[in-house]
Amino acid sequence: MTSPAQALVDATLALDAKGLNAGTSGNLSVRADDGLWVTPSAVPPGDLAADRIVRLDMTGAAQTPGVPTSEWRIHRDIYASCPEAGAIVHTHSPHATALAALREDLPSFHYQVAKAGGRLIACSAYAPYGTQALSDAVLAALGPRRACLMANHGMLAWGPDLVSAMALAIEVEVLCRQYLIARSAGTPVLLTDEQMDIALASFSRYGQPEA
Ligand code: 13P
Ligand code: ZN
Repeated sequence: MTSPAQALVDATLALDAKGLNAGTSGNLSVRADDGLWVTPSAVPPGDLAADRIVRLDMTGAAQTPGVPTSEWRIHRDIYASCPEAGAIVHTHSPHATALAALREDLPSFHYQVAKAGGRLIACSAYAPYGTQALSDAVLAALGPRRACLMANHGMLAWGPDLVSAMALAIEVEVLCRQYLIARSAGTPVLLTDEQMDIALASFSRYGQPEA
């Protein structure tokens, strides 16, 4: 079975290969017993290896060698406040970051926006990277949802496990791309609250046999 550390290395390389992160942009984590495994700060994907993944306790103290991601507070705070969160993916992916630079929410232009658990995907307030203020802004933008944009910075998605968090991060980037294309061609028609509520209800049964 793949270790949590190796799974984080593999996911980091996959984000790099897909163009969702470049260089040392972005960071990932998975929940551990009484703590979390996080990617190291300022290590390019090509230099990453399982023994460079850092284990933190819930105070942020490192239990293994290495410098944890500068955004460890965001990762720690999401695990502390969302018991269902098992993995977190933060990217500077191009289209999500472009929309976040406009400081706009991703609205209900497509029913799949509901995959993040709400009628829209909100954009956070701006705060400098690596600060508690940014963590507070991200948690406020997430609310009960599993993804948000980060003003003038990027986006973040979480899920019960790393496979789900990665899938949601990729879907959010694609949704932002589709929305920006639609915006550049005209004025997208937004789905109503009722239509989004139908999508939300059906995603809660997605992939299950029809009753
Ligand atoms: P780290 O290399 O410290 O993870 O920083 C990258 C980043 O995306 C900061 O927001
Ligand atoms: Zn970042």
